Amino acid sequence: MSIEQVHRTTLCHADGRYLLLYGDHGGDELAPLPVGEHPPLHLRWNALDARWTAISPARNTRPQTAPTADAAAPSCPLCPGGPEVPFAYEAAVFENRFPTLLADPPAAPDLDGDTAPSVGRCEVVLYTPTHTGSLATLEPRELARVIAIWADRSQALWAVDEHRHVLVFENRGEGVGATLAHPHGQIYALGHVPSLVRNRLEALAGHRAAHDTCLTCDVVERDTASERVLLDLPGFVVAVPFAPDWPYEIHVRAKRHGVRRMHDLDAAERRDLAVSLRDVVSRYDRLFDEPMSYMMVCQQAPAAEDGTPAEDWHLAFEFLPPNRAADRTKFRASVETSTGLFINDTIPEMCAAMLAEVITDARAVTFPEISVGAG
Ligand SMILES: [Zn+2]
Ligand SMILES: [Zn+2]
Repeated sequence: MSIEQVHRTTLCHADGRYLLLYGDHGGDELAPLPVGEHPPLHLRWNALDARWTAISPARNTRPQTAPTADAAAPSCPLCPGGPEVPFAYEAAVFENRFPTLLADPPAAPDLDGDTAPSVGRCEVVLYTPTHTGSLATLEPRELARVIAIWADRSQALWAVDEHRHVLVFENRGEGVGATLAHPHGQIYALGHVPSLVRNRLEALAGHRAAHDTCLTCDVVERDTASERVLLDLPGFVVAVPFAPDWPYEIHVRAKRHGVRRMHDLDAAERRDLAVSLRDVVSRYDRLFDEPMSYMMVCQQAPAAEDGTPAEDWHLAFEFLPPNRAADRTKFRASVETSTGLFINDTIPEMCAAMLAEVITDARAVTFPEISVGAG
């Protein structure tokens, strides 16, 4: 199979934010936008819980328009011709106009507790120029291109010395507060390893010290052999995890030891990832006959002090939908928030059985091989 080369073109908004265009585009003139102000942006150290909180008041000014499913959405800021990309495009990445983290943030204020500058990046990834749709309905070429873009941006962001963690994610639907319906995701690069990610690193290190094996390889093997498995491909296993926080939680985990980040995937694994993502979102959209809100987080190996990726980490896409039934939302309430003890009022094997019954077309779809080059 031939490899399709997608060209990346870099433009710059008048306020200094970059816009990366992947594939063909219909112009290169960017209209000036009101400059976003973020003077008090900083991190505060929560000493009792040993973690950072991002103070980001500029976010209160971001758009709060309700999601719309209309095919034509003249007010959508992400559609071609909108303020972010004022011409035709195939796929694009731009720096968030309302960022929590900045490449060159203001100095941290001098306060009566520890503070730090909000170093990092906040990017928005536009999957398609089409206003409606999802990872389950993108054209095969579009989904393959999105995966190539995630790999391209991840590699660039991991290469920045200050970045210790890069998080590709998607918030979809009103259930998780997504304000724009246009198919898109985001990428955050962080200057520190956040506390929950640190927990996982400690679990991997502890297991390695006690058993001299990779804990994630063990999890992959157990998920693949379990009744919770939904799809078993050479490159990825798709399963309801053993101990899910959310009733319909699904993890898509790389099988091969050594696939720690997006750009570690080979061509066959990228195709398997595309099949897996289409499969998961198709199940969510068909389970209750309407799109299910979810948080999707791509777990890439964080950087150790010397910048190298954590050894026993496997790349994973974890889907966290807040539904506990068709029309009922599970809230992350007092116990979950204060202790981290999630109370899941379903049996994971029963939810897996419900999800397994949903028929999807994902395995019948042929995804092209796409690589990104600077154009
Ligand atoms: Zn749109
Ligand atoms: Zn492993």
